[in-house]
Amino acid sequence: MSTAQNLLNTDVMLDVTKIEAKSGTYVLVFYFARKKEIEIGKLGKFLFCPGFYLYIGSAFGSGGLRARIKRHFRKSKKTHWHIDYLRSEIEIFEVGFSIQGKKEECYWVSLFESIHGITCPVPKLGSSDCSCKSHLFYCSQKPNFLSFQSCIRCDLERIVVRESEISRARAGNITSR
Ligand SMILES: [Zn+2]
Repeated sequence: MSTAQNLLNTDVMLDVTKIEAKSGTYVLVFYFARKKEIEIGKLGKFLFCPGFYLYIGSAFGSGGLRARIKRHFRKSKKTHWHIDYLRSEIEIFEVGFSIQGKKEECYWVSLFESIHGITCPVPKLGSSDCSCKSHLFYCSQKPNFLSFQSCIRCDLERIVVRESEISRARAGNITSR
């Protein structure tokens, strides 16, 4: 196996059940290949351009990050949060998370806002309960994970999902309850 393939395989760590059931903050990176209009609950309809979408959330309920990220991987489910409307139409490309004792999602949002080239496509998505402009960001190019890390100043664990893994997840235990 070539070094490149090795790197690719070690990079893919899809088994969400290995995520610790602890509290923390996460960033979901979605990829959208084609322009599409999507209705985000009561926020209304928005036109989503091709590119990468970043959603920042935190998990402090039972099951912690494991349960929350597992839920995000399930494409069809009862819509509860704004992000669920987007998730039903879009693929997860990458997930980054950090186990933390206190909620840092809004702090992460404030740092992400200042990253060059990042814009806010849907005002108030995921931020009904806080004063953030939105918890969703758009980036036309693939966001650089190392720049996330230096931005939030903590180590991120990471799951990279590719098309083949996405199909496998749909068929396997990640998408079922
Ligand atoms: Zn917020």
